Amino acid sequence: MPALPPARRAALRRRLLAWYDAGHRDLPWRVPQRGADPYRVWLAEVMLQQTQVQAVIPYYERFLRRYPTLGALAAAREEDVLALWAGLGYYARGRNLLAAARAAQARHGGLPASLDALRALPGFGPYTAGAVASIAFGIAAPVVDGNVARVLARLFLVEGEPAAGTVRSRLWALAGELVDPARPGDLNQALMELGATVCVKPAPRCGRCPVAARCAARAAGRERAIPPARGRPARRPLELACALVERAGAVLVVPRPAAGLFGGLLGPPSVELAGEDDPATALARTAREAHGLALAVGEEVARVERTLTHRALTLRGYRCTLRAGPPAAARWVARGEEGVALPTAFSALLATLFSTSRRVRCKNPHSRPGRLADKLARQRSSLTRGSSSV
Ligand code: SF4
Repeated sequence: MPALPPARRAALRRRLLAWYDAGHRDLPWRVPQRGADPYRVWLAEVMLQQTQVQAVIPYYERFLRRYPTLGALAAAREEDVLALWAGLGYYARGRNLLAAARAAQARHGGLPASLDALRALPGFGPYTAGAVASIAFGIAAPVVDGNVARVLARLFLVEGEPAAGTVRSRLWALAGELVDPARPGDLNQALMELGATVCVKPAPRCGRCPVAARCAARAAGRERAIPPARGRPARRPLELACALVERAGAVLVVPRPAAGLFGGLLGPPSVELAGEDDPATALARTAREAHGLALAVGEEVARVERTLTHRALTLRGYRCTLRAGPPAAARWVARGEEGVALPTAFSALLATLFSTSRRVRCKNPHSRPGRLADKLARQRSSLTRGSSSV
């Protein structure tokens, strides 16, 4: 049963669209002369999931230069797509993007103008399908992401955690009633924009809100209490020992398993450390069993810490010597080499190794291996820290 009286619904649509028309952010995927290219709309929506607008823009533009059409993306190699994605995090999005491009090209010759057909593509959940359908094809389909959920919960005083089953259903139903049949894409983008720039958490800027006079949470003085703040679960520590085999200014990397951390990307052979594991023993064993690599594991020469969505990641790099030739799947990554599907955490580890090696060579080009190890050990102060996502 509809929850919105027609007069209220019409007033909300009118105010939201007028506010959006008067001055939404000028983002690359909204440049008017480009029109609503479904591929561009979709690419932007996928990149924007879990990632800030400013971080997405350079990736979006670089991606479009390399793959300007859906057909170009569908013909790409996964390794090349993931290399362009490196740094955006959540690499499953990059893999799903390629899988969906191939499926859409094969089944429809492009992205289909149908909500059901979009939903059938890999990685197309209700949000992505609704966004592409409404923005690119003018289909009256609702969208609810984190920003829209917050706006709707406040506007209609919906209590409870937005991700919880019944609350989630209620928010989707409200979004469905509110979507404007004449301008569904603009109405949806107005809600997204309002949530991103005005109806923010924890303190909304109600004085700048176009629908403040019709906001139930504001009328009740509860705009800061809705939706309830979610406690972030503690990040579990994850420690990886990584084998750093250096040769002529390059480091050996191998493909990572398709499932799990940084799945399908490249990285130095590594093992997750648990309990009382001796890193050198565990690393040598895993390199042998998983990659057919015979390694002599030396001492720790680099360390990188990263904050992932659910994990506190520590990479510990051990200088290793190859006792037998690398397997066919392995490759060498040179200092500063671009276009490699290497997660930023591993790139930072390799950069630390390269800079440590160079400093030692510059100080004493005649260092013998035994002394080199001592010097590297003394230079472990060059730890790097940062945050990233998977
Ligand atoms: Fe959000 Fe305030 Fe606008 Fe209500 S009045 S929708 S709480 S910004």
